[in-house]
Amino acid sequence: MREGCALVTGGSRGIGAATARALAADGWRVGINYRSDRDAAEQVLRDIESGGGRALPLAADVSDPAAAAGMFDEIEQRFGPVLVLVNNAGVRADGLSPQLEDDDWQRVIDTNLSAAFRTTRRALPQMLRARFGRIVNVASVVGPRANAGQANYAASKAGLIGLTKTVAVEVARRGVTVNAVAPGFVDTDLTADIPRDIADAVPARRPGTPEEVAACVAFLAGERAGYVTGTTLTVDGGMSA
Ligand code: NAP
Repeated sequence: MREGCALVTGGSRGIGAATARALAADGWRVGINYRSDRDAAEQVLRDIESGGGRALPLAADVSDPAAAAGMFDEIEQRFGPVLVLVNNAGVRADGLSPQLEDDDWQRVIDTNLSAAFRTTRRALPQMLRARFGRIVNVASVVGPRANAGQANYAASKAGLIGLTKTVAVEVARRGVTVNAVAPGFVDTDLTADIPRDIADAVPARRPGTPEEVAACVAFLAGERAGYVTGTTLTVDGGMSA
């Protein structure tokens, strides 16, 4: 088992759950953050423990600064410094811009972008001290490109990519890398209301799986990706090509 630990925000379901399992398989002790679905987080814990790994479910709404700080204190006490941080927790609140309420704007920006900044700021000092760290932000193909009805979501994900690049150059010489993945259409609860036939427009002709995104996150979190920083790895079955 490695020194320190990994923390996956929104690790109880979908891409985050698959990422927590993948990082545990790579030898990390893993913090499984979730907001409300404790049963789902405990299922991920059981999956990891049955494979011989160690994990810790952590209830915290990452958009709440005090809750996010408490989550860090708890995992550091149990597993030591967070050396891999995956900012994955994300929400949608869609609507065309003229109808988008302030709450829908704020909730999406707070969860998808501001929370990632705060967890990054909290994790970096320990990573810099260790001269090793990996931050992976789960962005989206939406942001770099338009998607009508998602101005809030697109702004949050484009912002996350800008955050990724700038923090990456700030810390590159200290052995800490900061990257993003940009999934396309992935089969999770977040996309459950989207008609499956939109996959016809994807060159791969199918939605991606959470495990396919998790494999890319695990690569960026690995020792061997040490010279990859400030980049965004698109995982979209060819959609953006
Ligand atoms: P999901 O299945 O809806 O899972 C979302 C996860 O985030 C859950 O574990 C949820 O926990 C957690 N979460 C939500 N708000 C939170 C908060 N405020 N604090 C802590 N945890 C919170 O979503 P997903 O599809 O796996 O998406 C994961 C990430 O990938 C998101 O950032 C999303 O924008 C991005 N993404 C997804 C797709 C796609 O097609 N699915 C495409 C591009 C990008 P609870 O269940 O406890 O609320």
